[in-house]
Amino acid sequence: MSPGKDVVLTITRDDLQTIIDYCNAGYPDEACGILAGKAGRVEKVYSMTNARPGPVSYEMDPEEQFRVMKDIRQTGLEMVGMFHSHPDGRAYPSGVDVEKAYWPGTQLPNYPEAVYVIVSLMDRAVPVVKGYTIADGVVAEVLLTVT
Ligand SMILES: [Zn+2]
Repeated sequence: MSPGKDVVLTITRDDLQTIIDYCNAGYPDEACGILAGKAGRVEKVYSMTNARPGPVSYEMDPEEQFRVMKDIRQTGLEMVGMFHSHPDGRAYPSGVDVEKAYWPGTQLPNYPEAVYVIVSLMDRAVPVVKGYTIADGVVAEVLLTVT
């Protein structure tokens, strides 16, 4: 998977709703999670604990993240993406999101294959969900296909 507009993430309506519900439950703090699947198709949503909850911050609990990554490997899946919410911001990676996508002080992406899904709850009646790749200093929107 290379960054850019050719990247597609496919997700079922049910899984998308699971993400939105979890983000709404976390409001007004950010909520986060991991998306497992294969070849750009989400097959399992892991709702994660926000270890540093706040309206503009999240951090996955490292132990929980480790357990989930192990579970993903053991079920023969891959991490195809991650999600988090912007309770009062738009569905676009923040400066911190971009910074966190790289190893500190480098342009080396932590998860070059991953799609960063962001759920905007600015209008809580109409959540906006968008996906991005963040690599090589470029934020590129990904086509989210809901099936
Ligand atoms: Zn963010």
